[in-house]
Amino acid sequence: MMKLTVWGGAGEHGRSAYLLSGSQVHLLLDCGVKKEGSGDYPMIQQEQVPKLDAVFLSHAHEDHSVAIPLLYRLGYQGEVWTTRETTAQLTAYFASWREFTARAGVELPYMEEDQLAIRYRYLEEEAEKLTWFEALPGVKVMWGRSGHMVGSVWFLVQAEGKRIFYSGDYTSESLLLEDDSPALVDKPSSMLLDLAIVDAAYGTDANSQADKLKQLEQKIESTLQTGGKVLLPVPAAGRGQEMILWAYRNWGNVPIVIEAPLIEGMKRLLERSEWLRSQESDQGMRDQLELLLNRNDWIIPASEVERESLLQKHGASLWFVTDGMMQSNLAQWYYSQMSSDTRNLVLLTGHVSQGTFGHRLLQHPASYGACSVTKIRYKVHQGLTDVRQMITGVPALHTVLVHADKGETDRLRACLTEEAPNSNLHIYSMSVGEEVYF
Ligand SMILES: [Zn+2]
Ligand SMILES: [Zn+2]
Repeated sequence: MMKLTVWGGAGEHGRSAYLLSGSQVHLLLDCGVKKEGSGDYPMIQQEQVPKLDAVFLSHAHEDHSVAIPLLYRLGYQGEVWTTRETTAQLTAYFASWREFTARAGVELPYMEEDQLAIRYRYLEEEAEKLTWFEALPGVKVMWGRSGHMVGSVWFLVQAEGKRIFYSGDYTSESLLLEDDSPALVDKPSSMLLDLAIVDAAYGTDANSQADKLKQLEQKIESTLQTGGKVLLPVPAAGRGQEMILWAYRNWGNVPIVIEAPLIEGMKRLLERSEWLRSQESDQGMRDQLELLLNRNDWIIPASEVERESLLQKHGASLWFVTDGMMQSNLAQWYYSQMSSDTRNLVLLTGHVSQGTFGHRLLQHPASYGACSVTKIRYKVHQGLTDVRQMITGVPALHTVLVHADKGETDRLRACLTEEAPNSNLHIYSMSVGEEVYF
């Protein structure tokens, strides 16, 4: 028998950390932080840390990665299995967490040396995607691309006679990034997994990416029609690049102003072709990316003076700026320039943590300015339809829904349990500190 202990990430958004322990083997899936208040860390059971045999890291986002140095501080001496691409991105996430805690006036619970102590093992050097390999004696692992960001993966793990699936953050609907469906993995069709930990960040939201894009399109279109500006705060890497491509496709004749780090992200994307959709399935997005990068009519402001004159010059226009939760001075500066005009729109497209400027703005737009503020998701996670599909494709005796708040996870669980064809398959909505035996 094995046991799952949730150190973080179930019944909440952030600090994903899932401990799998058996009689011999102790494995940890991700170890992230929660960007709320002064920052939350997983509820690590300290006495378990020296027993850990391996850590598997799904991707670089801080809610999955940034508490890893804390494990080393607490005595972990093993390795962290992840992709080369994820490792390359981690330094930036560690640095930005350092800044976040400094701004919040709290101390980091680990030192620089703990971050340097991390010993990485690269998945793609050990085995091709979708093939089994022995990561440790008695622990077999398979990985596949999860479509969520460059370098992001899901894991299948076999240990002590159990089969475990961890989706990481997953989407099959990225315009640019390929995902390897875990449902298509070569396994006897009758084989049930023992445990699946499944990204259900969007809870009961049943919309597809196409639905979301339609809603985004309508909202942007109606703002442009009135001569308004649309401010799109997005993370420096991730959905921003896809949305810029999509915006060029839809509004080729409208001025699109883009802050430089987002363009850098687009260049990097093109160099990481092994993570991109194959030419056949990407509806020409990759060609478009290449074409776009070869254009010489980008509007990339380099100074505040330039920004001011562009704001003066353009009426109906799109503005892609970092960062997605509007914590950066730049995002807040843009807001201050646009907020007095009722025709303008701030369009948030991803998760905004409590306490961030983006969150406050969304809750009480009128107390900050006159322009409108709306949130419409651009999908980088799974909602009802996707989770349903995953449960059918990767059936498990125990499925744990993660990455959404408790209320929403409860509602999703109720939906899925009601329609479940097989009452032997258990679906869980869990909280931090809870356990499941499997
Ligand atoms: Zn993520
Ligand atoms: Zn996440």
